[in-house]
Amino acid sequence: MASPSVKSPPVLALVGLGHAHLFVLEQFAAWRKKPSQAPFAVTSALADGRVLLITPGTTLVYSGMVPSVMAGRMAAEEAQLDLRELIAKSGVVHVNASVNGLEAGKRLIHARRGNELLTLRYDMLSLNAGGAMPSAVCEAQIPGSGELALKLRPMERFLALWPRLLEQAQSHPTDAAAPYAIAVIGAGAGGIEIALAAKAAAPAASVSLVAGHQPVGSFGGAVFAKRIQLELARAGVHVLPLRALRMEAAASGQTELQLEGGARLHCHAPILAHGSQAHTWLAESGLALDERGFASVNDCYQSTSHAEVFAVGDMATRSDATIPRSGVAAVRAGPALAANLSAALSGAAPKPHPPQSRYLYLLATGNGQAIAQWGGFCASGRLLMAWKNHIDRRFVARFSSSSPLPNTDKP
Ligand SMILES: Cc1cc2nc3c(=O)[nH]c(=O)nc-3n(C[C@H](O)[C@H](O)[C@H](O)COP(=O)(O)OP(=O)(O)OC[C@H]3O[C@@H](n4cnc5c(N)ncnc54)[C@H](O)[C@@H]3O)c2cc1C
Repeated sequence: MASPSVKSPPVLALVGLGHAHLFVLEQFAAWRKKPSQAPFAVTSALADGRVLLITPGTTLVYSGMVPSVMAGRMAAEEAQLDLRELIAKSGVVHVNASVNGLEAGKRLIHARRGNELLTLRYDMLSLNAGGAMPSAVCEAQIPGSGELALKLRPMERFLALWPRLLEQAQSHPTDAAAPYAIAVIGAGAGGIEIALAAKAAAPAASVSLVAGHQPVGSFGGAVFAKRIQLELARAGVHVLPLRALRMEAAASGQTELQLEGGARLHCHAPILAHGSQAHTWLAESGLALDERGFASVNDCYQSTSHAEVFAVGDMATRSDATIPRSGVAAVRAGPALAANLSAALSGAAPKPHPPQSRYLYLLATGNGQAIAQWGGFCASGRLLMAWKNHIDRRFVARFSSSSPLPNTDKP
């Protein structure tokens, strides 16, 4: 008589320690603490070591605080979440590795840990590994940038290199023929904040924002955009309404940026801030992707091609709604993702997560102030920056294991 086939219990793999996965880990930790309130499938998966977290390291740079760190208004450590305790409490098995391949058809993840190559099998997968700025992709978009530009992502690397750049800018001779020049390429919310922070940190430097054709700030409303444009002018950031075409090394360690219409810009430090790109390994994954290579998901954050795969945050695009790529959107997705992963483990159907109709924009202007937009409301000032700091610090303190954060905001 043939023995009945025994189905092994499902393995859930979480890739990346992005904003939404923090909520998933927090929920798992809460359920481990009160198992009577937890779905049995989740607690048993955790107890059996069947929930894997595959991510390099145990920290996350909180992007919202990066401009304040750059502007010298906050210490770099304050913008870093230490997630060791959360990981331990959640009960997941941490695989300290960086994913570099995915075969959705075979349910296999490929990852690198130092020189070691790992292959991991999953039954359910949740992707929250953010956006990337792969050199090859940057190079294809702006030839020369792969090698010559400082990229915003990974942010850990950017923050590690920023003090060196700042030191060069601040020690640039005041009697030199031209000031130290920084060019920020890309005028999304991040690029605007980076340009303003760079100008605040190095007031003697020339800071240019290579903005392309869209009016600066047009991702928000007209009043918001106008305030941003006025703020850039007040700070002395030169806005160039042109696209960067290529970069070449120029004399005395400078870079020549070739812009549309034959314009050229020489700078000491080109910073690429032209938005999140998709991880290159998604391209070969077999998952349905949008036209820019991000994972295409439905209203439950479920892959439109593979029901056992969920994706959120910067690496996913909802097929039913336009959701901005932002930390706020990734945070909003967190609790819904936790519920849907638990449903999937329990064999239940995931639930749709209605998108928000409006998102809060809070842009730091480098001088201790912020510009805010919420729906049709727009305002700016110091109080808003204090509010932004409060929100950001509360988020870091909620998930980070470090002792209470010092308040080192400079007035
Ligand atoms: C300067 C700047 C300021 C910003 N300020 C704000 C703001 O104030 N508010 C806001 O809402 N948004 C802001 N953003 C946007 C925000 O940073 C992103 O939208 C947000 O980080 C996306 O979150 P996520 O959860 O998708 O991924 P992330 O938070 O980027 O997390 C990705 C995680 O995946 C891990 N990972 C990466 N690659 C791999 C891999 N190959 N394998 C495994 N793990 C991997 C990383 O280590 C990290 O843990 C800002 C962006 C910039 C550039």
